[in-house]
Parts: sequence; structure tokens; C-alpha cells
Amino acid sequence: MRDFSADHRWLSLNTATVRKQGDLLEIIETCARHGIRAIDPWRDQVAAVGLERAARAVRETGLELSGYCRGGMFTSDAPRRIEVRDDNRRAVDEAKALGAPCIVLVVGGLPQYSRPGSAATKDIAGARVQVEEAMAEMMDYAKTAKMPLAIEPLHPAYAGDRACVNTTKHALDICDRLDPARSGALGVALDVYHIWWDPEVLGQIARAGKDRLLAFHVCDWLVPTKDILNDRGMMGDGVIDIKSLRRAVEAQGFAGYCEIEIFSDTWWTKSMDEVVRTCIERHRTVL
Ligand code: ZN
Repeated sequence: MRDFSADHRWLSLNTATVRKQGDLLEIIETCARHGIRAIDPWRDQVAAVGLERAARAVRETGLELSGYCRGGMFTSDAPRRIEVRDDNRRAVDEAKALGAPCIVLVVGGLPQYSRPGSAATKDIAGARVQVEEAMAEMMDYAKTAKMPLAIEPLHPAYAGDRACVNTTKHALDICDRLDPARSGALGVALDVYHIWWDPEVLGQIARAGKDRLLAFHVCDWLVPTKDILNDRGMMGDGVIDIKSLRRAVEAQGFAGYCEIEIFSDTWWTKSMDEVVRTCIERHRTVL
């Protein structure tokens, strides 16, 4: 396992971690100043400053991307299918312009939450079928741009509104069906927040192997967690055995960035510099 104690060269900052403190250009400037080499920006943050300005800032500071957040939200009612398709195609185009290595997919839950305005349903099995169909369609487009797609399984608490793919096994089953040749076009983004509780996770990481491990996200699980969306912990403040998960992905050959992604009403109140300094310190001491 790589030694992170001496520097933070493998730290990537998911820009949602400091999204309340400044826009993407300020985040990029702060990362560059702190010697952070990579980010994973969100589409709304890119849109807010303009794709061209964002791409230029990334280029001029020499930053890499560890992913692009996010594509997906594949479930909708029939009238919105074209909107879903076109939205995801735009995500591919943006990711390409920014130089992202992959697009992180949050696949969507029930249609009325995934694509608001869609007719309400309780058919989660149907939602899962739709996810695969729409993902296959997105893959066809993404392949022409040589843009890998990384399915992020989310904690089951999000099955209703954000993602009906909730385990690493489920995500890898989809990879096997849609990309049986393991071409590199489809893989997983594993986020410790979503996978740490799963008794099968280590075996599934081994099953994924290097070619399907496209991204690794870190934060911590606080006990109690007061808000499932916006109460993520800073690494070291919760109960996730992050090291054992990192060891497992690196044992498969994963050698990419450890991306810090913290949605937190607590950390959003602190200055950008303080959050980034803390991330660097925890990256060295906890990861
Ligand atoms: Zn994540």
C-alpha cells in the first residue's frame, strides 16, 4: 500500500467539499496554492463559471481531474427520456473538454426524484431495468469520445431518490452485462461512505480488479449521522476503516487519486483554507 504520510501527491479534492465557500475558480486557485494536484469538479460548478473558463483554469494551473461529477439520473417517465439522454451526452462532452479520466454515475432512484416532474411510481425493479438501458445508451456515446463511465453504488438509504444501485456487487453485475469484455469503458467509483458497511465489499473489490476500479472516494461515517446527505465526516472523525478499503483497492493495482468528498453542513461553515489544510493533514495521518 502506498505511503501517504510524507506528502499529499495522491490527494484529489472533490470540489463539492468546499462548494459553499467559493466558486470553482477560487477552489482551483486554493488547490494550486496548497499543492493539490487533482480535483473532481461538479457540473453545476463548471456551469456557474462557464466550461471554457473552467477548462482554461484547470490547464493553466496544471491540475489533473480524478473524475467528473456527475452523469446518470437515468430514471424518468417516458416524456423525459430524450432529456435524460441529451443531458448525459452533454456531460460526456464537458468531461472531454475538461480532460476528465471518467464520469461518475449516480444512476437515479425512482423517476419522480431522479427527474422531478416525472410520473410517480414505486416500481424500483423497473427503475433498475431503466438504469441499465439508459446506461447502455450513454455508453455508446461515451465510447465514441473514449470517456469511461464509473458507476457509483450509493448507500441503500438513497435507493428512493438518488440511486437504486446500492452495492458494489450490483454495480459490477451491471459492468459484466454491459461490458463483458472488460474494455475499460465501464467500471465503478467506490466511495467509502457508501460501501464500508457491506459484508461483501472486500470480495467485490477483488472481483472488480484494476480495470474496473476507476475512482476511490473518501470521507467518514459519523455516529450518529444526523443527515444522510450533508453530514459526512472528515476522515478520522468517524467509524470507517478507510485504510483497509484503500489496501483492498491498491492490492488490485489501483494507483490513482484518493478523492476527498465531504458534503457537510459543518465543514461548509469553515474557511476554504482551513478545510483544505485539514484534508491534507488527514490524508497524511488517517488514510
Ligand atoms: Zn463519491
